[in-house]
Amino acid sequence: MTSQKSKSPSTPHRPSQGNRDFRNRTKRSGKPTDRQEKGEQGNTPRGAPQLQVGDATAQPGIILRAGREKSLLRRHPWVFSGAVERIDGAPHSGDTLPVRDAAGNFLAWAAYNPDSQITARVWSWREEEVIDAEFFRRRISTALEVRRALLPRPPAGEGRGEGMNNGARLIHAESDGLPGLIVDQYGDTLVMQIGSAGAEHWRDAIADILQELCNPACIYERSDSDSRGLEGLEPRNGVLRGALPESVGVVEHGLRFKVDVAAGQKTGFYLDQRDNRALTETLAAGRDVLNCFCYTGGFSLYALRGGAKSVLSIDASGDALRIAAENLMCNGLDAMRAEWQEADVFQALRKLRDQGRSFDFIILDPPKFAPTAAFAEKAARGYKDINLLGFKLLRPGGLLATYSCSGGISEDLFQKIVAGAALDAGVDAQIVHRLHASADHPVLLSFPEGAYLKGLVLRVAG
Ligand code: SAH
Repeated sequence: MTSQKSKSPSTPHRPSQGNRDFRNRTKRSGKPTDRQEKGEQGNTPRGAPQLQVGDATAQPGIILRAGREKSLLRRHPWVFSGAVERIDGAPHSGDTLPVRDAAGNFLAWAAYNPDSQITARVWSWREEEVIDAEFFRRRISTALEVRRALLPRPPAGEGRGEGMNNGARLIHAESDGLPGLIVDQYGDTLVMQIGSAGAEHWRDAIADILQELCNPACIYERSDSDSRGLEGLEPRNGVLRGALPESVGVVEHGLRFKVDVAAGQKTGFYLDQRDNRALTETLAAGRDVLNCFCYTGGFSLYALRGGAKSVLSIDASGDALRIAAENLMCNGLDAMRAEWQEADVFQALRKLRDQGRSFDFIILDPPKFAPTAAFAEKAARGYKDINLLGFKLLRPGGLLATYSCSGGISEDLFQKIVAGAALDAGVDAQIVHRLHASADHPVLLSFPEGAYLKGLVLRVAG
């Protein structure tokens, strides 16, 4: 058989033999109000594509148009609907199918989704590989091993070293060979987010494997991101295994953060900024800091611990700000130096400018403005606006830490936008740091979309 059509996830498909003779075959405006995802993989243009149905009695498979196999040969894991010549057999969404070039040569095993502009997402490039529960155990084990080997583990029993970090992204979707699957760890709670029909098909098997390999108290499912709709999947939010602890938290470089896994944004916390938050701590001493889009206070707490003179934090979400205030208290940080403001950053920055306020260090970490390149122009206006205002509010010699988590905005384009903002603000600025997501968000070389988060720390001339 060549697909998993109507098979349960525990029933493996077997690679086909001798069938090489096949002959035929991100909502975001410039002013977003939430940040379900930070531009991560899984964003597709809207609307179900029109796919050509092939021979329903043939072995199920995806046959590409002549010449459209090139991206797969470069090991990019997505098959766009426009590249598909026809679908043979009568496969269901989530089935594993062979993808073949126009001459019938095998290219990959991929999860089929007729409702998405991404018709298939590749599980494996090896024809002999069987996509079954064992396949997922291997991929998940490898992802866990990468984190074990690469994440800094401070020595136990050394003051702040002990228990310094207990959060990590354990599985980063395409970049870990598991398209559409995100798993974040907060202590002994795992939060799983499924954003593709293929991962949805294997949901229970994946949960069992995570339970077995990680033994968490709870696996919570937050499959309610915007991109699920684009994949034709219903939102889901609830406990998958175990019981949700009364309070979930994460320790990051010794700072404790409460994580609202059920109602918070994304999976509850933005693990991707861990290293960049730590950098903020080293830059904050003696400075008046403005943290825009502060969520539950990540950058603010680091800045306070780093000795900032004052930290004004702004976010549109009252819920996030309430947690931020709790986080401040439970870390024993000086509340006198912290001010929280519930506001739209676009308006708040203008107000601060009109009031003649100024800062030594400004952090801009907005939600994704461009889920795909199609939104890039509109998003660019949003980035230009806040960065221009940021530059204007900086004192001479001040620092701007500015981020984009838009998959649709390249690093190069982001730098150009920021350069344009500095020019219009009439300031000269130098890049002192180029930043990305932490090491638990690896980027597959063949999948540059995985590098969604980019940041610059700039120093304006004194
Ligand atoms: N820097 C944070 C993560 C920021 S997530 C951290 O390290 O944890 C982006 C935040 O932007 C979210 O908290 C969301 O509520 C907020 N947001 C989105 N649009 C906004 C707007 N127009 N004005 C203010 N906040 C906004």
